[in-house]
Amino acid sequence: MAQQEEIFKKLISHSKEYGFVFPSSEIYDGLGAVYDYGQNGVELKNNIKKYWWDSMTLLNENVVGIDSAIFMHPTIWKASGHVDAFNDPLIDNKDSKKRYRADVLIEEQIAKYDDKIEKEIEKAAKRFGEAFDEQKFRETNPRVLENSAKKEALHTRFAKALNDSNLEELRQIIIDEEIVCPVSGTRNWTDVRQFNLMFSTEMGSTADGALKIYLRPETAQGIFVNFLNVQKSGRMKIPFGIAQIGKAFRNEIVARQFIFRMREFEQMEMQFFVRPGEELKWFEQWKQTRMRWHKALGLGDKKYRFHDHDKLAHYANAATDIEFEMPFGFKEVEGIHSRTDFDLSSHEKYSGKKIQYFDPELNQSYTPYVIETSIGVDRMFLSILAGSYCEETLEGGETRVVLKLPPALAPVKLAVLPLVKKDGLPEKAREIMDDLKFNFNCQYDEKDSIGKRYRRQDAIGTPYCITIDHETLTDNQVTIRHRDTMEQERVPVTEVGKIITDKVSLKNILKKITQS
Ligand code: ATP
Repeated sequence: MAQQEEIFKKLISHSKEYGFVFPSSEIYDGLGAVYDYGQNGVELKNNIKKYWWDSMTLLNENVVGIDSAIFMHPTIWKASGHVDAFNDPLIDNKDSKKRYRADVLIEEQIAKYDDKIEKEIEKAAKRFGEAFDEQKFRETNPRVLENSAKKEALHTRFAKALNDSNLEELRQIIIDEEIVCPVSGTRNWTDVRQFNLMFSTEMGSTADGALKIYLRPETAQGIFVNFLNVQKSGRMKIPFGIAQIGKAFRNEIVARQFIFRMREFEQMEMQFFVRPGEELKWFEQWKQTRMRWHKALGLGDKKYRFHDHDKLAHYANAATDIEFEMPFGFKEVEGIHSRTDFDLSSHEKYSGKKIQYFDPELNQSYTPYVIETSIGVDRMFLSILAGSYCEETLEGGETRVVLKLPPALAPVKLAVLPLVKKDGLPEKAREIMDDLKFNFNCQYDEKDSIGKRYRRQDAIGTPYCITIDHETLTDNQVTIRHRDTMEQERVPVTEVGKIITDKVSLKNILKKITQS
């Protein structure tokens, strides 16, 4: 774990050094849990968004997009349940004065039992070698059984406390499990209190009687309140989906772990409207499709897992998370929820407007049920950075840091490098770049040795570099260097555009989603 923490620290400083992510308002000492994306970060982020958007709107004829406003009528948040129930249970340590989410402290404790079990298994696997029977070991080893039983008991107690919104019981679990504050190391805890996560502001001048409005804590409600607009104007037939990418704001209690938990972040959400009674079939289908979307990036299938929810939100009848193995453990990147007809019905009630769909096949009207897929752009960004960051030792002992980003997502696709800064090579390089810049993002670099330039491109994840040397002037060929293998090949200048366009196309990843 210590090693993982070390890697996480390196990732954060790498992000800053290479223009991916900066702390917000840094010259004023920053603003808690708010971050800015730099010149490479914004490109990577845009590419992630495009990957999601295209996978939704191009691969599904029945999914269309919208872009709704951040400000919305305040009653929307009453109807959605956010005013009354968008709370996190918080607890303070009286010695360190640090604030924590009570549920997160307990979840981490559950994860510790898992770690203990995994360690036992690892040790035994080493001891027994080929003969090791993991299944049998899990079923019979006393220490594994003891930790599994403790974990199960805690899990059950925790789920019940959450479902009953029993704050005293949450505190008691923390006390009984002897959970200490990581900063002070003590168990001197306050009571657990509920804290609403929505930011509010005022619209209109106070003289007019200003309206208290909220910064949206999720983009989904903008989709629900536009359900009829899209359905009617697009003549959409159920089942169909509406996708949206946009900013969301939450006044998170504990905002650590870099861009994993931010107060201003971006979501990519899709609400899929279905016939009542068919929602669990569609839930299963979207679960599998979304997992394929993640795995198609090629960061390693083992890095993902599903995690079913213990506590279903007031509106849901099924929910799961897709978790990614971050340097600080498996964490939620995306939530998939079966939201029943809660939102549409509630908006119908609060707005007084009929929000129903007439199904011509059934010859009846109903309130559609909804499957939601909801993913954070920033968490996805972090998972991709973490999954691509590599430190390698090369032949001869030199080291390199390389971001093995999926080529289609890399901020820069091609670096154009004249071997030397004279003899007409820069002019030739510029000529090539002027032709290729229409196809994809190219970067020209003539400073420092070629080795240093390669390292700079490795560090930002550029999948291809071409070098223009003296021979290029006579044979009109360049050397393409591949980021991951560092292999080089000589190709005609006239071919470069086609070769790289094929390799960096999003199509390669999108096809994988449909094939598997
Ligand atoms: P958590 O339990 O981690 O607070 P959540 O279950 O409240 O997350 P959802 O409401 O399901 O999250 O939001 C959907 C997605 O939005 C999450 O899977 C995550 O990727 C992203 N997200 C939510 N809150 C944040 C945040 N504070 N910072 C960055 N991304 C976030």
